[in-house]
Amino acid sequence: MSTPVIAVANQKGGVGKTTTTINLGACLAEMGRRVLIIDCDPQANATSGLGLKGSAPSPNIYDVVVLGHPIDEAIVPSAVPQLDVVPSDISVAGSEIELVDLPLREKRLSYALDGLDRDYDYILLDCPPSLGLLTVNAIVAATSLLIPIQCEFYALEGLGLLTHTISLLQRRLNPNLKIAGIVMTLFDARLVLAQQVVEEVRSRFAAELLLPLIPRNVRLSEAPSYGMPIILYHPSCRGATAYRELAVNFDRRLRNAGDGPTATVGGSV
Ligand code: ADP
Ligand code: MG
Repeated sequence: MSTPVIAVANQKGGVGKTTTTINLGACLAEMGRRVLIIDCDPQANATSGLGLKGSAPSPNIYDVVVLGHPIDEAIVPSAVPQLDVVPSDISVAGSEIELVDLPLREKRLSYALDGLDRDYDYILLDCPPSLGLLTVNAIVAATSLLIPIQCEFYALEGLGLLTHTISLLQRRLNPNLKIAGIVMTLFDARLVLAQQVVEEVRSRFAAELLLPLIPRNVRLSEAPSYGMPIILYHPSCRGATAYRELAVNFDRRLRNAGDGPTATVGGSV
């Protein structure tokens, strides 16, 4: 399968992984790309944020990864044309434990994707904020990583760890893993600190940084409670404009470079 599989990952919670997965996915679909979002997080925020909580029929990601159900049977359409979802559910929380005893436990999502019948232009994996077995499955199945970083002080502390983690993942799990990009989220232009964080990331990861910066925008935080991506909830707000531009730049980068610009993260940390 040559479809780009992008793991949206960062071991920190609350940095905009799910918001980016949902809205980048929706904007790519709006551009005419066929997109599959796989919710790999037991918190199921991508599932509920796309209005699919509860309506999700079995099977879900648990059935695919733990029980080995064909992934095509777990795919449900979203309200956005060309955007499909493999939902998650809180019951998936136990799968970290159940996976431990299964053969080839890190490769189960990868094998499931090998059996995918439908054609997509992009597959986005929304990862949990941990390096547990579900994230490991996502990293192994991925062709590249998309890393959201929140524009705040602690992001700077985390950058060294991030570089270390990525090279570890590449060495141990997936030598072919590329970096599709770094997305700066929750940007507040009024804060000097936020600008400093952006400058730091720009200087260390010039090639990886994907523009535009995603602004802190209250509409973006409201949209999930209505079960809608931003382009349906408030199509003209700043958040929607930013994610549309991000989708254009992301699409251009992946099309030009196969799967991402670099095999390793640049910048010395
Ligand atoms: P993660 O998946 O990394 O844990 P989320 O995408 O769930 O992070 O975002 C954490 C919280 O911040 C959520 O409540 C989300 O709605 C909110 N949020 C994310 N991005 C933005 C943004 N650009 N502006 C305002 N709120 C945001
Ligand atoms: Mg999340």
